[in-house]
Amino acid sequence: MTSTCTHLDQIAPARPETVGECPECVATGGTWVHLRACLECGHVGCCDSSPATHATAHFRATGHPVMRSVEPGEHWGWCFVDGVTIPGRQMP
Ligand SMILES: [Zn+2]
Ligand SMILES: [Zn+2]
Ligand SMILES: [Zn+2]
Repeated sequence: MTSTCTHLDQIAPARPETVGECPECVATGGTWVHLRACLECGHVGCCDSSPATHATAHFRATGHPVMRSVEPGEHWGWCFVDGVTIPGRQMP
C-alpha cells in the first residue's frame, strides 16, 4: 500500500463542532460507538461501527473527503475518497 491522501494539503482543519457526542444521534435518541470529526467543516458524526454511521453520511451529503478520530488518545484520519488511513504524523 503506497497510496496516500491527496486532499490534506487543501484543507485547513476545522475544530470539531461538538465534543463527546454525535449531535445527530442525540437529536434522534440514538447511540454511537466512536466519534469522527470532519476536517473540512468540523462536523462530528459517528463511525461505521455505529448504527447510524453519521460520519459516512456526512461525506455522502457534502463530499468533504477527510475526517479524523476524536476518540481520546487517537490521532489518525481517514480519507473517504482515497480510501486510506492517514497516520497521526501526517495529520495537519
Ligand atoms: Zn484524500
Ligand atoms: Zn450518529
Ligand atoms: Zn464536513
